[in-house]
Amino acid sequence: MKELDAQAKAKLDALYERVVEHAGSFLGYPCNQKFDYRPLYRFLDHSLNNVGDPFRSATFRLNTHDIECEVIYRFAEFCRARQSDVWGYVTNGGTEGNMYGFYLARELYPEGLVYYSEDTHYSVSKILRLIKSRSIMIKSQENGEMDYDDLYETIRLHRDAPPIVIANIGTTMKGAVDDLDRINSIFSELALPAHYIHADAALSGMILPFVDAPQPYGFDAGVDSISISGHKMIGSPFPSGVVLAKKKNVERVARSVEYIGTLDTTLSGSRNGLSPLFLWYALKLRGEDGFRRLVESCLAVADYAVEQFRQRGIKAWRNRNANTVVFPRPSDRLVNRWQLAVHRDIAHIIAMPHVDTGMIDAFMLSFEQDLAQRSEGAA
Ligand SMILES: *Cc1c(COP(=O)(O)O)cnc(C)c1O
Repeated sequence: MKELDAQAKAKLDALYERVVEHAGSFLGYPCNQKFDYRPLYRFLDHSLNNVGDPFRSATFRLNTHDIECEVIYRFAEFCRARQSDVWGYVTNGGTEGNMYGFYLARELYPEGLVYYSEDTHYSVSKILRLIKSRSIMIKSQENGEMDYDDLYETIRLHRDAPPIVIANIGTTMKGAVDDLDRINSIFSELALPAHYIHADAALSGMILPFVDAPQPYGFDAGVDSISISGHKMIGSPFPSGVVLAKKKNVERVARSVEYIGTLDTTLSGSRNGLSPLFLWYALKLRGEDGFRRLVESCLAVADYAVEQFRQRGIKAWRNRNANTVVFPRPSDRLVNRWQLAVHRDIAHIIAMPHVDTGMIDAFMLSFEQDLAQRSEGAA
């Protein structure tokens, strides 16, 4: 086998060191760093490409479509849909799933008007520009949930356009869950039978199915499509995600494409055949009970972090069923040191499975040092 020259090798080694070093201080982003996929490494010697619709057999056989269908069915259960009622595929991440949801909504309701809250992920405004949908931003409440009075009034003023609402099932900064029951009752109060809800459940789509008292989040609560990231709660060496949508809507849109001679249901053409395999493996290995325990322990670590902040007189809090701990924005030095996500005057820690109380303790230590240094600087 041909080998890299010494300089290139050194570069690889340095990169590897950097990755290992930073993995130990990864507190601010919702990507689980704790996984072991070694039994799947032999598949890395092959080129697995899931191009096309996983539910339609193609001539191209070097794929994992059968495994992908199983993954979709599993997520259908998590999202409280009957297998026969939904269609979906494994995406490149939450963003692609959101894009698929909007694409479907726009095809169904070309005159639709999209509503999304201030706390919505940045991928959404990008997608709306891309698909050239008309949209209106709705105010948020302090905890990150949509302001339902503002939603009501805004939809009321535009009753002629079918509403397409993006509901956050776990906002990026605060882990807030928009109230699907409230959103649906707004539709009925205003007598708007033509409507669409896309749920952006990037992180909490793998939390709420496993808690005792979840907020409404799934197809049983009236969502039309839902996007969940695979590399967030589940954890994966590369990004992935899952999108699910009501099959009857997908078929209506697919037919119109069939008319021009193709049945091209996915947004991406070539798709990573390893992603469904890794997701399938993780789902099988842990099982539903395993995810229950995992989520429970994340929420316990989140509570521990809130408590540690409060003991130090810092106002920290979290939303119900969220592993995102919100606190006042610290210094940039601390933000960099712990890879914290910040927005204006707040920051957050996300208690993902690789975050334990020891890591929180270490963070608190540097948080205290930082506070001390800042008050010295001020004196
Ligand atoms: C992370 C996230 C996304 C985007 O997901 P990617 O997998 O990074 O594309 C979308 N929405 C929310 C709420 C997120 O937290």
